[in-house]
Amino acid sequence: MPRWTPAVVIGCVIAAIAMQVSAPDAQPTHTSVIVAPTPPPPPKIFDVLHTIESGETLGVILQNLGLSAHAIRDAALPVYDLAKIRSGRTLTFKVREGDTSPHAVHYPLDEDNTVVVVLANDAWTASLDTTIYEVAEAIREFSVESTLWGAATKAGLRAGDIVSIASVFEFDVDFNTELRAGAKVKMVVEELYLDGKFAKLGHPLAVRLQNRDDAFVAIRHQLKNGDVGYFDADGVARKKAFLRSPLTFSRVTSGFNPKRFHPVLKKRRPHNGTDFGASRGTPIRATGAGKIVMAGRNGGHGNFVKIDHAGPYASSYSHMNRIKVKRGQRVKQGQVIGTVGSTGMSTGPHLHYQFWKNGRYVNPMTIDLPRTQKLEKAERPTFEANRDTWLDFMNGVTPVVAMSEDE
Ligand SMILES: [Zn+2]
Repeated sequence: MPRWTPAVVIGCVIAAIAMQVSAPDAQPTHTSVIVAPTPPPPPKIFDVLHTIESGETLGVILQNLGLSAHAIRDAALPVYDLAKIRSGRTLTFKVREGDTSPHAVHYPLDEDNTVVVVLANDAWTASLDTTIYEVAEAIREFSVESTLWGAATKAGLRAGDIVSIASVFEFDVDFNTELRAGAKVKMVVEELYLDGKFAKLGHPLAVRLQNRDDAFVAIRHQLKNGDVGYFDADGVARKKAFLRSPLTFSRVTSGFNPKRFHPVLKKRRPHNGTDFGASRGTPIRATGAGKIVMAGRNGGHGNFVKIDHAGPYASSYSHMNRIKVKRGQRVKQGQVIGTVGSTGMSTGPHLHYQFWKNGRYVNPMTIDLPRTQKLEKAERPTFEANRDTWLDFMNGVTPVVAMSEDE
């Protein structure tokens, strides 16, 4: 089968015309037949913007524009369920000059992805429109003067970039309690360009964090199954079975101390956990995945949640203001299980966090937490090639321009 290209089409048309005009007394008039009529100019298309208000549904918005919410939602379902539209985002409707209702609906999922639903031949069809950037690799570095946030912002990173760096190391460092002034971050990161202009940073590819005497390296790697993770230089996942801290923003007010003098009881009483000071209502995260084995009042612990994790581990959370989980429920790592409060025997809003190994209290801030994943053999060639390229680039080993002096 030949490919059905325009050239083929034109060729056939000319052949047909040639046969027609070859009648005995006809004059060849090829040119007058081959020239196509000038197409009418395409109709102008207008954008109608609608910012979704709180409580507004897709049905109401579309009905006001003379559209069927049912047809549009059904068409979009393979791409995205438009019933889940979020307030604050802006829908764009495309309307052709002269038409009474739109022929296309655009809904942004995030900065780079838009759901596009288009009406053609009386049927709506949906697709995902994704921004394609040109990608370059670049270096960013900064020193922490007081906070990671301040230093990173000063270096031109956006909130999302800072969160992504913090999340690379959140299994090793509690950024609020353990990051010291003078800590240094250096990384190889993607720079994303649109039409040759810098748009924003992409993924961190290799990050080095020097925090006092501890140095951490994280290398980005996409596994053969498509999952993406960060690994140390030996190919061991940075991700661990447990987060270092159940609170994102906190400070340790009282550490694990089996011989502590209790401030309320006024007598020596072991402190079997770590206290984090935080304001009432601060979200508390499950430090690891597991099953809720207790959720409710528990004497001096007040509102209390205990999680049974895989292996020999368990964790608990005391003095909570609100509990957001139920006994028997499974939770994921990082899932919010409640909020900070001062219920039970407590002198003010804080979280008393306990951690067990084989049924014995251990210090959650110093215990060697189990790692979850080491790269398999099949993953290593790609990982090692990327690691060496990025670390050489970061360390200035790779010359920016490789050119012989003799030429
Ligand atoms: Zn405590």
